[in-house]
Amino acid sequence: MYDIEKIRSDFPILSRQVNGKPLTYLDNGASAQKPKVVIDTITRAYADEYSNVHRGLHYLSNLSTDRYESVRGTVARFLNAAHEDHIIFNSGTTEGINMVAYSWAMPRLEVGDEIILSVMEHHANIVPWHFLRERQGVTLKWVDVAEDGSLDPQTVIDAIGPKTKLVSITHCSNVLGTVVDVKAITQGAHAKGVPVLVDGSQGAVHMPVDVQDIGCDFYAITGHKLYGPSGSGAIYVHPDRMHEMRPFMGGGDMIKDVSKDHITYNDPPMMFEAGTPGIVETIGLGAALTYLMEIGMSNIAEYEAGLRDYAIQRFKALNWLNIQGQATGKSAIFSFTLQGAAHPHDISTILDKKGVAVRAGHHCAGPLMDHLGVTATCRASFGLYNTKTDVDTLVDALELANELFA
Ligand code: PLP
Repeated sequence: MYDIEKIRSDFPILSRQVNGKPLTYLDNGASAQKPKVVIDTITRAYADEYSNVHRGLHYLSNLSTDRYESVRGTVARFLNAAHEDHIIFNSGTTEGINMVAYSWAMPRLEVGDEIILSVMEHHANIVPWHFLRERQGVTLKWVDVAEDGSLDPQTVIDAIGPKTKLVSITHCSNVLGTVVDVKAITQGAHAKGVPVLVDGSQGAVHMPVDVQDIGCDFYAITGHKLYGPSGSGAIYVHPDRMHEMRPFMGGGDMIKDVSKDHITYNDPPMMFEAGTPGIVETIGLGAALTYLMEIGMSNIAEYEAGLRDYAIQRFKALNWLNIQGQATGKSAIFSFTLQGAAHPHDISTILDKKGVAVRAGHHCAGPLMDHLGVTATCRASFGLYNTKTDVDTLVDALELANELFA
């Protein structure tokens, strides 16, 4: 049974008030709140167990190293990677995708090579590829989404040509909530010999992920959206791709041996983790993923689908509300504008007065905003602790905003 009361009580912040109203937190797509187990794990890591990792031989360093390194196995279990060595720690999806751009793509791609992206990518999965366009003459090839915001995997596969070297695609749109069939895309791309990177920033939060079943080459996650600490994250890299990568950050920990005229790299994945890492952040990520696995990602997906359906049903009655993205099976992420001239920033301010936290802006998705013909939207993004009451509170606040701006 999905014990929503218990889950809500795990998140201390949910009992606070904002602007004199109970908090209705619907900005999970930007960053999710943290359960007490994550907060306690962070406190313990600093208060009782802190030291640098890998380097010391003393008690605390060994303890810290054990705690930190054990998270590699936790991430591997969370993503069903075949081995924990296929996991590289980082500060989040942005770093993960940049690492692939610098370590895997830059040494391999040449003028005229292509990278395929969908128009609904987040800037984190666009800008690193623009670097390759600017610096190496790589071409970015864009695949559109359909009217309802869905993405037919075949359109991505059909876009692959002889010059295509990578498909880099989101698992779930942070604006539309569209869930992309990354397994079908990977199968089609691999049949043409092209690797696939999946931006799992949003996807891994809302559904079970099995990287072996998807078959992808890279799968990036970000800790702060997974109810873990900001500055934590990881990327799954298929061992075949891992062996093709060259480290782009040099420093301590990623080498075995350094002399005046020679270096020997550490084995992967350590080879790609230069410098003192986010020790406590990563330990906190481990606690967050363990928490999620205890609830069960399938249970979370099922519960959130119920919230999504309830929200869709309530929104249907609001004929002045324009929802962007109606794809079947989407996640509970709703971007919207109101009919009339109300700016999303003003709408979000009204909602805030009612204790409802949503995001307003371009959501770091410039090409999608262009595609939709808008400059900004409001976004309500639901998480594992939200309820139908939160949907009702949102609808009440939207009705007020609509009256004020009508
Ligand atoms: N990709 C998607 C789809 C996102 O929604 C986000 C964050 O909003 C990112 C990538 C970047 O994640 P981070 O800022 O945690 O690196």
